[in-house]
Amino acid sequence: MVQTTESNNVDGILQTALWNVQQTAGRLGLNPDITRRIVEPAEQIRSVIHPQVPNGEMLHAHVFLVRHNDVLGPSKGGIRMTAGVTLNEVTGLAMEMTWKTSLIGVPFGGGKAGIRYDPALLKPTEKEILIRAFTRGVRRHIGPEVYVPAPDMGTNDSDMGHIRDCVSYSDGKSIPAGCFVTGKPVVLGGIVGRREATGNGVAATIVAACERLNKKLPGLRVAVQGFGNVGSVSALAIAEKGATVVAASDITGGTYCAEGLDVVKLADHVAKTGGIKGFAGGKEITNAQVLEADCDVLIPAAGGSVITEENAPRIRAKIIAEGANAPLTPQADEILNAKGVFIIPDILCNAGGVFVSYLEYTQETQRDQMTRDEVQQRLYHRMTTTFDRVYERTQQKHQPMRHSAMDLAVTRVVDGIQSRGLLP
Ligand code: GLU
Repeated sequence: MVQTTESNNVDGILQTALWNVQQTAGRLGLNPDITRRIVEPAEQIRSVIHPQVPNGEMLHAHVFLVRHNDVLGPSKGGIRMTAGVTLNEVTGLAMEMTWKTSLIGVPFGGGKAGIRYDPALLKPTEKEILIRAFTRGVRRHIGPEVYVPAPDMGTNDSDMGHIRDCVSYSDGKSIPAGCFVTGKPVVLGGIVGRREATGNGVAATIVAACERLNKKLPGLRVAVQGFGNVGSVSALAIAEKGATVVAASDITGGTYCAEGLDVVKLADHVAKTGGIKGFAGGKEITNAQVLEADCDVLIPAAGGSVITEENAPRIRAKIIAEGANAPLTPQADEILNAKGVFIIPDILCNAGGVFVSYLEYTQETQRDQMTRDEVQQRLYHRMTTTFDRVYERTQQKHQPMRHSAMDLAVTRVVDGIQSRGLLP
């Protein structure tokens, strides 16, 4: 079996990342040498793995690993496993990670990995074999001081557990020497609250935005596109704070209820049946209708480039919280900015995941144990103080939140380069 399908959005994410950084370099007046230094990825790995599975068949998968930048620390970012992931997509996502880690203030650079295979086609043992083959294949590029992977689309905590085991197993030791991977099961040195961290962080930025924009949470109508780890947790967290989730979708379908969906029941339905399709508590609608739903807040929490110049004019939300990475194309961004939509950019909105990955990294390095309350408190504090810094610049410069977030993130990386010195 070989997976070769290309997805439509692969180049879009890299284009969006390049557009954002070039615009920022212009705004900050960076010189061309420094601009080149922060744009070009430090290292791009492209490889193929061919593990054999129990039925005797071989799986053939293209794999990618990009370390975009390590000025502020080891490259950090998740492993995306989809049928269409490409080196370009991984490069764009690695670049976004450089800005995300910088903005949220953790001592990491940016990286990302990709395994081109549709995880839905794999039995659990086959997926484990693929993850172990990936780990062995790129082993020399993974390490606490090099690149530290985590879950991303198509991968989860069990996969991270296999990576950790693969590393310690090959060293003949019970545990690896340091933190090689984050987002692991808690029983294997993971941290409580990591799985929910991205979604909880998204909700924290929406609460902060509502405070600044004088919008009340009770009665706030929210639509969520994507009901995986990020979308479902964001929906549950924001509903718990009093908002009304009116629409939600995933790859199986969409659901709508003007009076508000019972998000707990919806999450139960998804856990039991594997998707939103067939949920009795709402009217069936399409994914496109969820994006264009009549709501106050839209959370795109699935793939990249889902809002383009084509559908942007029809978006009705007043706030967009980017739970996914690069869900808006630059053209869509411009259209929505012109309409006065308040956009909480991805590098701020979904940075809660990598922030709690940092807590996991320090916990494992120090052989410490943090409680759920500690993790929650630190996450909430970091998300809101970072939101405030970005908002303050937005007010001062009269520019969109994305520009302010990028200005702050890129400035910190450039400061890092200058503090290290430019000599080899
Ligand atoms: N994949 C997540 C992201 O895009 C988390 C990365 C991490 O924790 O390293 O931010």
